[in-house]
Amino acid sequence: PKEVTDVICPFCGTLCDDLIITVSDDNKTILGVKNACAIGAEKFNHQRLPGRVKRPRMRQADGTYKEVTYDEAIDWTAKMLVKSRKTLMYGWASTSCQAMSIGHEIAEKCGGIVDNCATVCHGSSLIAIEDVGVPSCTLGEIKNRADCVIFWGCNPAHAHPRHMSRYSIFPRGFFTVKGHKGRKIYCVDCRYTDTAKCADKFIQVQQGFDYELLNAFRTAVRGEALPDTVGGVPKEKIYEIAESFKTARFGIIFFGMGLTHTMGRNHNIDIAINLTRDMNEYTKFAIMAMRGHWNVTGSGQVLGWQYGFPYAVDVSRRDQARHQTGETTSVDLLNRNEVEACFYIATDPGAHFPVDAMISSSRKPTVTIDPHINCTTEISDIHIPVAMVGVETGGCAYRMDNVPIETRKVVEPPEGMLTDEELLTKINKRVDELLAKG
Ligand code: SF4
Repeated sequence: PKEVTDVICPFCGTLCDDLIITVSDDNKTILGVKNACAIGAEKFNHQRLPGRVKRPRMRQADGTYKEVTYDEAIDWTAKMLVKSRKTLMYGWASTSCQAMSIGHEIAEKCGGIVDNCATVCHGSSLIAIEDVGVPSCTLGEIKNRADCVIFWGCNPAHAHPRHMSRYSIFPRGFFTVKGHKGRKIYCVDCRYTDTAKCADKFIQVQQGFDYELLNAFRTAVRGEALPDTVGGVPKEKIYEIAESFKTARFGIIFFGMGLTHTMGRNHNIDIAINLTRDMNEYTKFAIMAMRGHWNVTGSGQVLGWQYGFPYAVDVSRRDQARHQTGETTSVDLLNRNEVEACFYIATDPGAHFPVDAMISSSRKPTVTIDPHINCTTEISDIHIPVAMVGVETGGCAYRMDNVPIETRKVVEPPEGMLTDEELLTKINKRVDELLAKG
């Protein structure tokens, strides 16, 4: 066996880059994973999952699946895309930026709507950032400089397990030589989470009152009057914490779906960004979304360069790209039955979308491209397995702080299995042939 070092973890938006993977001499099997957290290690362990699907499967009339060749699956998919006037092309978070750009080319030719999982997580953060901008930084700056860390509506202890040890709470950096001891950690949440257990101060906000509490911090920072309590937090505590924010050398607000998915949504993020701006009158402060699904940030980047919108981009009118939350977002399109086919790649909407949306999806021609069986593959007409990006093939992925990182191939994929890039290139070519025939 040999060890591959400096491997990038392909699971969450932290993209830890210090993993050591032990692989068999024939380069086919992963034998051990070092440095990853439990969820990251599990991703690598799935590479040798017994019963892994290695060839495309097509659903039969009786609900069972029959193995088909890649060529048959590619032909069926290309025909579906060409026939459909509007196809939902959703997912992209667990694949590479290179694969995304080929997918977007197909969407332009066939009339698709390209959406990623920001549509059900940080979409509201992206709207707020488009509205008011964002004073942010890199995770490296946080490790080396931050002495005041605020987790608001997020729980990295569960969702990004090594975030705290690599960047935000425990590491010693250039100007943070005392590590955890030199930082003040705050956790704002409506419940006492495992992240709250690591905090110096837990601030329990009444559910749905994040906007009011953020507004109260803005007021307190300016030394203006507050009511006795805001969002269940006494004003004395708000004044005291606001004062400690002002005396920090470098502060960072990390926020999660506790802000994006509660009352106020993008307005919660607007005001959190504005609090960050206010804080820069007194000291250095930054804010960052805790992006969850591995390369969802990359999908936003690639869509951003190409069309100017980071998610839910409708290119079905060919001459222009449109985005309108509620109009071009996946769940709304499915609920209103506005797409004729579904093309899912590298994400599992069956596990995250509302049931009604997935019932609507199950009534349309559907292709799912994913290395494994998941909730979505089981309601698809075709499941096309592919090599695992970041494990069996490389490619570019973006960390949650918008830093691009080139990921590595660690082992060979099962024999004959295509990568996302190879598969999408072949589908693109078949689409060209079909369109040329007219
Ligand atoms: Fe992988 Fe995220 Fe765990 Fe790091 S924190 S090892 S990127 S799952």
